[in-house]
Amino acid sequence: MAEKGKEVRASPMELMKQLPGEDCGDCGFDTCFEFALAIFDRRKRYDECTKLNDAQRKALAKMLAPPMREVVLGVGERARRIGGEEVMTREELGFFGKTVIAYDVWDTMSEERLRDRLKEIYEIKAVKVKEAFSADAIAVRNVSGDPKKFKEAVKIVSEQTDVPLILCSFDPKALRVAVELVKDKRPLLYAATKDNWADVLELAKKYAVPVAIFSPNDLDTLGAIAKTFAKNGVEDLVLDPGTFTEPGSLLQTFCNLIMLRRACVEDGVKEVSYPTMAVPATITMTVGDRKKAAQLETMLANALITKGINLVILHYPNTWGFFPMVMLRESVFKHPKAEEKVDPGIYEFNEPDELSPVLVTTNYTMTYGVVSSELERVKVPCWLLVVDTGGLSLDTVAGTGEWADLLEEAVDEFNLDEKVKHRILIVGQVVAEYKEDMEEALPDWKIVIGPKDSTEIGPFLKEKWKEFLKESGIEA
Ligand code: SF4
Repeated sequence: MAEKGKEVRASPMELMKQLPGEDCGDCGFDTCFEFALAIFDRRKRYDECTKLNDAQRKALAKMLAPPMREVVLGVGERARRIGGEEVMTREELGFFGKTVIAYDVWDTMSEERLRDRLKEIYEIKAVKVKEAFSADAIAVRNVSGDPKKFKEAVKIVSEQTDVPLILCSFDPKALRVAVELVKDKRPLLYAATKDNWADVLELAKKYAVPVAIFSPNDLDTLGAIAKTFAKNGVEDLVLDPGTFTEPGSLLQTFCNLIMLRRACVEDGVKEVSYPTMAVPATITMTVGDRKKAAQLETMLANALITKGINLVILHYPNTWGFFPMVMLRESVFKHPKAEEKVDPGIYEFNEPDELSPVLVTTNYTMTYGVVSSELERVKVPCWLLVVDTGGLSLDTVAGTGEWADLLEEAVDEFNLDEKVKHRILIVGQVVAEYKEDMEEALPDWKIVIGPKDSTEIGPFLKEKWKEFLKESGIEA
């Protein structure tokens, strides 16, 4: 691979020179310099400044272009932006092109089986704080070798889902009929190889869609094909250096991906400055036992996510594999400067009314996440008052002696008395010893100590809430 030399990142001062200098505050910062700092470490995008002229916009786009190209898969709300990385390890700045998690379907399935598998894939969900996650993309594989069958399968899948599609075939004829059908959905063509690249290049040019280049364990060929594509104006590329799952060969998979990342972000090698992908689903070729293969697939995908891989294609859709994968991804791709806080306020769960219970928690992400997931799960209508503790958990803030005051401020600030008729607050057991302080701070409210564990919230509310209302003289 030829080396071109790493480009130096623009400094905040250099970025500042391209900003309007009006300090208008439209971007959420009091000064343009604060905004320059935010775009420097990628907490904000430069186009969030509302006062840029064309020249400034162009200059900032150039100065802030990451060494790794960003590639968009799909269209609309479910489109995914991958790549755009600048560093080897996330601690240096952060990873940004979140791993797209795709599951495969194939064209030898009957229509009924295909629809069932799509349903099975979309039933898998993971909830983190307020966000629900499901599969990001579907990879349709041309197992039959028949372009007509491939087209039919792609048609069924495209009618069933709005996520990005990955059209998997080494046969340009099959890719042609499929991409013709879904060209407006900006699918990823998988893949151009040393044998078919000329035909796939023509397709990518004609339909303006991204392309994956597959060159197992041969980075020079991978770079050479990518360079030819780029020369011909096709730059939305994803690199697949192969996923090796035979015993003893796993290391090769990681070495290739790390070498590509290093060449891109450290050495500035333009021909490999694209997002990378892997296909853990290839585990099906080396491990016969389904359970074992599913476990190994998940382990491999998780290991790849920690390295900042941009796309993985999987074969085994299951909750126990998907949930940790998503949690890991959200953590690996979280900006290092992102705050571990939820916005304080009153949150509604399951359409509460003025007689519904009010539970109290803090704005620490983890605490909020655990409580809110449980409330979603038990389906009891209720309100959740999220107190601003500066992102501290309930047990941490309890020890500061400030909990009662913070709670009082939240009740007051968010006008809780306008939301509910009753005056009952359910707080966690970890602040039970501060009950008197809370009663003193909120004399109009009855403080009820809730269950110890969030999994007991459902039964607790179902069994006791009406009783609490009755004790307060309210008939539900
Ligand atoms: S919107 Fe633009 S001009 Fe206004 S403060 Fe932000 S960076 Fe400066």
